[in-house]
Amino acid sequence: MQVGFIGLGHMGQHMARHVAEAGHDVAAFDLRTEAVTQLTRTPTARRASSVAEAASAAEIVFTSLPGPPEVEAVASGPDGLLESMQSGSIYVDLSSNSPTTVRKLCAAFAAKGITMLDAPVAGGVTGAEAGTLSIMVGGDKDAFERVRPVLSAFGKRLFYCGGSGNGAIVKLCNNLSSQAQIAAAGEILSLGVKAGVDLDILATAIGQSTGTCRAIVDTFPKQLFVRHFEDPGFTSILSAKDTHLAIELAHEFNVPMAIGEIVERDKQEALRRGWGPLSPDVFVRLQEERAGVVLETAKEKTP
Ligand code: NAD
Repeated sequence: MQVGFIGLGHMGQHMARHVAEAGHDVAAFDLRTEAVTQLTRTPTARRASSVAEAASAAEIVFTSLPGPPEVEAVASGPDGLLESMQSGSIYVDLSSNSPTTVRKLCAAFAAKGITMLDAPVAGGVTGAEAGTLSIMVGGDKDAFERVRPVLSAFGKRLFYCGGSGNGAIVKLCNNLSSQAQIAAAGEILSLGVKAGVDLDILATAIGQSTGTCRAIVDTFPKQLFVRHFEDPGFTSILSAKDTHLAIELAHEFNVPMAIGEIVERDKQEALRRGWGPLSPDVFVRLQEERAGVVLETAKEKTP
Protein backbone atom coordinates (compact mmCIF):
# COMPACT_ATOMS: atom_id res chain seq x y z
CA MET A 1 0.00 0.00 0.00
CA GLN A 2 0.99 3.65 -0.36
CA VAL A 3 1.55 4.92 3.19
CA GLY A 4 2.29 8.41 4.53
CA PHE A 5 3.97 8.60 7.96
CA ILE A 6 4.31 11.84 9.92
CA GLY A 7 6.25 12.03 13.20
CA LEU A 8 9.42 9.94 13.36
CA GLY A 9 10.25 10.36 17.05
CA HIS A 10 11.00 7.71 19.68
CA MET A 11 7.99 5.65 18.59
CA GLY A 12 7.30 6.73 15.00
CA GLN A 13 10.76 5.88 13.63
CA HIS A 14 10.33 2.21 14.59
CA MET A 15 6.67 1.90 13.57
CA ALA A 16 7.41 3.47 10.17
CA ARG A 17 10.38 1.13 9.68
CA HIS A 18 8.22 -1.94 10.37
CA VAL A 19 5.62 -0.72 7.86
CA ALA A 20 8.34 -0.19 5.20
CA GLU A 21 9.97 -3.55 5.99
CA ALA A 22 6.58 -5.23 5.47
CA GLY A 23 6.85 -4.06 1.86
CA HIS A 24 4.63 -0.97 1.87
CA ASP A 25 5.80 2.23 0.15
CA VAL A 26 6.32 4.77 2.93
CA ALA A 27 6.66 8.53 2.40
CA ALA A 28 7.82 10.00 5.72
CA PHE A 29 7.92 13.52 7.10
CA ASP A 30 9.14 15.03 10.37
CA LEU A 31 9.93 18.65 11.26
CA ARG A 32 13.38 17.37 12.27
CA THR A 33 14.86 16.31 8.94
CA GLU A 34 17.46 14.12 10.68
CA ALA A 35 14.64 12.00 12.17
CA VAL A 36 13.87 10.56 8.71
CA THR A 37 17.45 9.70 7.70
CA GLN A 38 17.64 6.29 9.39
CA LEU A 39 14.28 5.23 7.91
CA THR A 40 15.31 6.01 4.34
CA ARG A 41 17.89 3.18 4.56
CA THR A 42 14.91 0.83 4.09
CA PRO A 43 14.47 0.57 0.29
CA THR A 44 10.67 1.05 0.33
CA ALA A 45 10.88 4.26 2.41
CA ARG A 46 11.53 7.78 1.16
CA ARG A 47 11.70 11.26 2.61
CA ALA A 48 8.80 13.64 1.93
CA SER A 49 9.46 17.36 2.06
CA SER A 50 6.11 18.27 3.67
CA VAL A 51 2.98 16.84 5.29
CA ALA A 52 1.15 17.36 1.99
CA GLU A 53 3.79 15.48 -0.01
CA ALA A 54 3.69 12.54 2.43
CA ALA A 55 -0.11 12.40 2.29
CA SER A 56 -1.31 13.32 -1.18
CA ALA A 57 -0.80 9.90 -2.85
CA ALA A 58 -1.32 7.78 0.28
CA GLU A 59 -4.04 5.20 0.87
CA ILE A 60 -3.24 5.31 4.59
CA VAL A 61 -1.62 8.16 6.55
CA PHE A 62 -0.23 7.63 10.06
CA THR A 63 0.66 10.34 12.56
CA SER A 64 2.76 9.73 15.70
CA LEU A 65 2.98 13.17 17.28
CA PRO A 66 3.36 14.47 20.86
CA GLY A 67 -0.26 15.45 21.58
CA PRO A 68 -3.44 17.31 20.61
CA PRO A 69 -1.88 20.66 19.47
CA GLU A 70 0.61 18.94 17.15
CA VAL A 71 -2.02 16.53 15.79
CA GLU A 72 -4.44 19.40 15.12
CA ALA A 73 -1.71 21.39 13.35
CA VAL A 74 -0.77 18.47 11.09
CA ALA A 75 -4.32 17.18 10.55
CA SER A 76 -6.37 20.34 10.05
CA GLY A 77 -3.82 23.17 9.87
CA PRO A 78 -2.71 24.92 6.66
CA ASP A 79 -1.31 22.44 4.10
CA GLY A 80 -2.33 19.67 6.49
CA LEU A 81 -3.88 16.24 5.98
CA LEU A 82 -7.43 17.48 5.59
CA GLU A 83 -6.37 19.56 2.58
CA SER A 84 -4.04 17.01 1.03
CA MET A 85 -5.45 13.49 1.58
CA GLN A 86 -7.62 11.87 -1.07
CA SER A 87 -11.27 10.96 -0.59
CA GLY A 88 -11.53 7.22 0.20
CA SER A 89 -8.22 7.12 2.08
CA ILE A 90 -7.78 6.37 5.80
CA TYR A 91 -6.10 8.53 8.43
CA VAL A 92 -4.77 6.69 11.51
CA ASP A 93 -3.60 8.75 14.49
CA LEU A 94 -1.19 6.68 16.63
CA SER A 95 -0.57 9.53 19.10
CA SER A 96 -1.94 9.49 22.66
CA ASN A 97 -4.56 12.13 21.98
CA SER A 98 -7.62 13.75 23.53
CA PRO A 99 -10.83 11.82 22.63
CA THR A 100 -12.62 15.16 22.15
CA THR A 101 -9.99 16.33 19.65
CA VAL A 102 -10.15 12.93 17.90
CA ARG A 103 -13.94 13.07 17.53
CA LYS A 104 -13.86 16.63 16.21
CA LEU A 105 -11.20 15.73 13.64
CA CYS A 106 -12.96 12.47 12.70
CA ALA A 107 -16.11 14.44 11.77
CA ALA A 108 -14.10 16.95 9.72
CA PHE A 109 -12.35 14.15 7.81
CA ALA A 110 -15.63 12.26 7.27
CA ALA A 111 -17.08 15.39 5.61
CA LYS A 112 -14.29 15.04 3.00
CA GLY A 113 -14.79 11.29 2.49
CA ILE A 114 -11.75 10.34 4.59
CA THR A 115 -12.08 7.85 7.47
CA MET A 116 -10.13 8.64 10.62
CA LEU A 117 -9.17 6.02 13.22
CA ASP A 118 -7.64 6.76 16.63
CA ALA A 119 -5.07 4.03 17.30
CA PRO A 120 -2.81 4.94 20.23
CA VAL A 121 -0.17 2.41 21.17
CA ALA A 122 1.29 0.95 24.37
CA GLY A 123 4.52 -0.95 24.97
CA GLY A 124 7.12 1.81 24.90
CA VAL A 125 10.14 2.21 22.65
CA THR A 126 11.14 -1.42 23.30
CA GLY A 127 7.77 -2.61 21.99
CA ALA A 128 7.96 -0.24 19.01
CA GLU A 129 11.45 -1.45 18.15
CA ALA A 130 10.40 -5.11 18.40
CA GLY A 131 7.07 -4.56 16.61
CA THR A 132 5.12 -5.96 19.56
CA LEU A 133 2.98 -2.98 20.58
CA SER A 134 -0.59 -3.07 21.88
CA ILE A 135 -2.85 -0.88 19.72
CA MET A 136 -6.19 0.46 20.94
CA VAL A 137 -8.36 1.35 17.96
CA GLY A 138 -11.46 3.55 17.80
CA GLY A 139 -13.55 4.44 14.74
CA ASP A 140 -15.16 2.71 11.77
CA LYS A 141 -14.80 -1.09 12.11
CA ASP A 142 -14.53 -1.75 8.36
CA ALA A 143 -11.70 0.78 8.09
CA PHE A 144 -10.01 -0.96 11.04
CA GLU A 145 -10.21 -4.28 9.18
CA ARG A 146 -8.70 -2.64 6.08
CA VAL A 147 -5.71 -1.27 8.02
CA ARG A 148 -5.31 -4.32 10.29
CA PRO A 149 -2.55 -5.90 8.11
CA VAL A 150 -0.52 -2.67 8.21
CA LEU A 151 -1.04 -2.20 11.98
CA SER A 152 0.07 -5.82 12.43
CA ALA A 153 3.48 -4.83 11.06
CA PHE A 154 4.23 -3.17 14.43
CA GLY A 155 1.42 -4.31 16.73
CA LYS A 156 1.08 -7.72 18.32
CA ARG A 157 -2.18 -7.12 20.20
CA LEU A 158 -4.86 -5.12 18.39
CA PHE A 159 -7.94 -4.08 20.41
CA TYR A 160 -10.99 -2.73 18.60
CA CYS A 161 -12.51 -0.43 21.25
CA GLY A 162 -15.63 0.91 19.50
CA GLY A 163 -16.48 4.23 17.87
CA SER A 164 -14.29 7.26 17.25
CA GLY A 165 -12.36 8.39 20.34
CA ASN A 166 -12.72 5.06 22.18
CA GLY A 167 -9.14 4.01 21.40
CA ALA A 168 -7.95 7.33 22.90
CA ILE A 169 -10.10 6.78 26.01
CA VAL A 170 -8.71 3.27 26.57
CA LYS A 171 -5.16 4.57 26.17
CA LEU A 172 -5.67 7.41 28.68
CA CYS A 173 -7.17 4.96 31.20
CA ASN A 174 -4.25 2.58 30.65
CA ASN A 175 -1.66 5.29 31.24
CA LEU A 176 -3.39 6.71 34.30
CA SER A 177 -3.46 3.17 35.68
CA SER A 178 0.31 2.78 35.26
CA GLN A 179 1.08 6.24 36.75
CA ALA A 180 -1.30 5.69 39.69
CA GLN A 181 0.48 2.38 40.39
CA ILE A 182 3.82 4.22 40.36
CA ALA A 183 2.46 6.80 42.84
CA ALA A 184 1.04 4.10 45.12
CA ALA A 185 4.20 1.99 44.94
CA GLY A 186 6.39 5.02 45.74
CA GLU A 187 4.21 5.79 48.74
CA ILE A 188 4.18 2.31 50.24
CA LEU A 189 7.92 1.85 49.72
CA SER A 190 8.61 5.19 51.43
CA LEU A 191 6.60 3.92 54.42
CA GLY A 192 8.44 0.59 54.67
CA VAL A 193 11.88 2.20 54.35
CA LYS A 194 11.10 5.02 56.81
CA ALA A 195 9.85 2.39 59.27
CA GLY A 196 13.21 0.63 59.07
CA VAL A 197 13.19 -2.08 56.35
CA ASP A 198 15.94 -2.36 53.73
CA LEU A 199 14.61 -1.23 50.31
CA ASP A 200 15.89 -4.33 48.49
CA ILE A 201 14.19 -6.68 50.94
CA LEU A 202 10.98 -4.65 50.88
CA ALA A 203 10.78 -4.45 47.07
CA THR A 204 11.76 -8.09 46.57
CA ALA A 205 9.19 -9.36 49.09
CA ILE A 206 6.33 -7.18 47.80
CA GLY A 207 7.37 -7.83 44.19
CA GLN A 208 6.75 -11.56 44.74
CA SER A 209 3.61 -11.16 46.83
CA THR A 210 0.05 -9.91 46.37
CA GLY A 211 1.09 -6.22 46.51
CA THR A 212 3.22 -6.44 43.39
CA CYS A 213 2.93 -4.20 40.33
CA ARG A 214 5.06 -3.48 37.27
CA ALA A 215 6.56 -0.35 38.89
CA ILE A 216 8.09 -2.42 41.70
CA VAL A 217 9.42 -5.33 39.62
CA ASP A 218 10.38 -3.56 36.40
CA THR A 219 10.36 0.26 36.27
CA PHE A 220 11.83 1.19 39.67
CA PRO A 221 14.79 -1.25 39.58
CA LYS A 222 15.89 0.28 36.24
CA GLN A 223 15.22 3.93 37.15
CA LEU A 224 14.17 5.13 40.61
CA PHE A 225 16.19 2.65 42.70
CA VAL A 226 19.39 3.45 40.77
CA ARG A 227 18.64 7.18 40.25
CA HIS A 228 18.70 6.74 36.48
CA PHE A 229 16.13 9.16 35.07
CA GLU A 230 18.04 10.46 32.02
CA ASP A 231 17.54 9.72 28.29
CA PRO A 232 14.19 7.97 28.69
CA GLY A 233 12.25 6.65 25.71
CA PHE A 234 9.12 8.14 27.30
CA THR A 235 9.40 11.51 29.03
CA SER A 236 7.65 13.10 32.00
CA ILE A 237 6.37 15.81 29.60
CA LEU A 238 4.41 13.25 27.54
CA SER A 239 3.34 11.29 30.61
CA ALA A 240 2.04 14.46 32.34
CA LYS A 241 0.18 15.28 29.11
CA ASP A 242 -1.57 11.88 29.26
CA THR A 243 -2.49 12.27 32.95
CA HIS A 244 -3.83 15.76 32.26
CA LEU A 245 -5.94 14.52 29.33
CA ALA A 246 -7.37 11.74 31.55
CA ILE A 247 -8.31 14.27 34.25
CA GLU A 248 -9.85 16.59 31.63
CA LEU A 249 -11.91 13.63 30.39
CA ALA A 250 -13.01 12.87 33.97
CA HIS A 251 -14.15 16.49 34.42
CA GLU A 252 -16.03 16.32 31.10
CA PHE A 253 -17.91 13.20 32.27
CA ASN A 254 -18.22 14.30 35.90
CA VAL A 255 -16.29 11.31 37.27
CA PRO A 256 -14.59 11.82 40.65
CA MET A 257 -10.87 10.99 40.43
CA ALA A 258 -9.46 11.12 43.97
CA ILE A 259 -6.36 9.09 43.04
CA GLY A 260 -5.97 10.60 39.56
CA GLU A 261 -6.02 14.17 40.97
CA ILE A 262 -3.11 13.32 43.31
CA VAL A 263 -1.12 11.90 40.38
CA GLU A 264 -1.97 15.01 38.32
CA ARG A 265 -0.79 17.32 41.14
CA ASP A 266 2.58 15.58 41.45
CA LYS A 267 3.13 15.29 37.68
CA GLN A 268 2.51 19.02 37.27
CA GLU A 269 4.90 19.78 40.16
CA ALA A 270 7.53 17.59 38.46
CA LEU A 271 7.20 19.73 35.32
CA ARG A 272 7.56 22.93 37.42
CA ARG A 273 10.77 21.47 38.87
CA GLY A 274 12.18 21.14 35.33
CA TRP A 275 11.97 17.32 35.32
CA GLY A 276 10.00 17.18 32.04
CA PRO A 277 12.75 15.51 29.95
CA LEU A 278 13.31 12.82 32.64
CA SER A 279 11.60 9.43 32.97
CA PRO A 280 7.97 9.48 34.21
CA ASP A 281 8.67 7.84 37.61
CA VAL A 282 10.84 10.81 38.64
CA PHE A 283 7.77 12.32 40.33
CA VAL A 284 8.18 9.76 43.17
CA ARG A 285 11.01 12.03 44.36
CA LEU A 286 8.29 14.38 45.63
CA GLN A 287 6.99 11.63 47.93
CA GLU A 288 10.57 10.91 49.00
CA GLU A 289 10.92 14.58 50.01
CA ARG A 290 7.63 14.55 51.93
CA ALA A 291 8.54 11.31 53.74
CA GLY A 292 12.21 12.18 54.29
CA VAL A 293 13.59 9.02 52.63
CA VAL A 294 15.45 8.18 49.42
CA LEU A 295 14.37 5.02 47.56
CA GLU A 296 17.83 4.13 46.30
CA THR A 297 19.27 0.66 46.53
CA ALA A 298 22.82 0.36 47.85
CA LYS A 299 25.41 1.56 45.31
CA GLU A 300 27.33 -1.74 45.32
CA LYS A 301 24.13 -3.53 44.26
CA THR A 302 23.58 -1.19 41.29
CA PRO A 303 23.96 -3.16 38.01
P1 NAD B 1 8.65 12.22 20.29
O1 NAD B 1 8.59 13.58 20.88
O2 NAD B 1 9.89 11.41 20.45
O3 NAD B 1 8.33 12.29 18.72
C1 NAD B 1 7.41 13.18 18.15
C2 NAD B 1 7.91 13.54 16.78
O4 NAD B 1 6.95 14.40 16.16
C3 NAD B 1 9.23 14.33 16.82
O5 NAD B 1 10.18 13.69 15.98
C4 NAD B 1 8.84 15.71 16.31
O6 NAD B 1 9.88 16.36 15.57
C5 NAD B 1 7.65 15.37 15.42
N1 NAD B 1 6.76 16.51 15.18
C6 NAD B 1 6.23 17.36 16.08
N2 NAD B 1 5.44 18.26 15.46
C7 NAD B 1 5.47 17.95 14.13
C8 NAD B 1 4.86 18.52 12.97
N3 NAD B 1 4.08 19.60 13.04
N4 NAD B 1 5.13 17.95 11.77
C9 NAD B 1 5.95 16.86 11.66
N5 NAD B 1 6.56 16.30 12.74
C10 NAD B 1 6.32 16.84 13.95
O7 NAD B 1 7.39 11.44 20.88
P2 NAD B 1 7.22 9.85 21.02
O8 NAD B 1 7.81 9.42 22.32
O9 NAD B 1 7.63 9.19 19.75
O10 NAD B 1 5.63 9.75 21.20
C11 NAD B 1 4.74 9.94 20.12
C12 NAD B 1 3.31 9.69 20.63
O11 NAD B 1 3.21 8.35 21.12
C13 NAD B 1 2.92 10.59 21.81
O12 NAD B 1 1.58 10.92 21.72
C14 NAD B 1 3.21 9.73 23.04
O13 NAD B 1 2.42 10.13 24.15
C15 NAD B 1 2.83 8.37 22.50
N6 NAD B 1 3.51 7.24 23.14
C16 NAD B 1 4.83 7.28 23.45
C17 NAD B 1 5.45 6.19 24.04
C18 NAD B 1 6.92 6.19 24.40
O14 NAD B 1 7.37 5.27 25.11
N7 NAD B 1 7.71 7.15 23.93
C19 NAD B 1 4.71 5.03 24.32
C20 NAD B 1 3.36 4.99 23.97
C21 NAD B 1 2.76 6.10 23.38
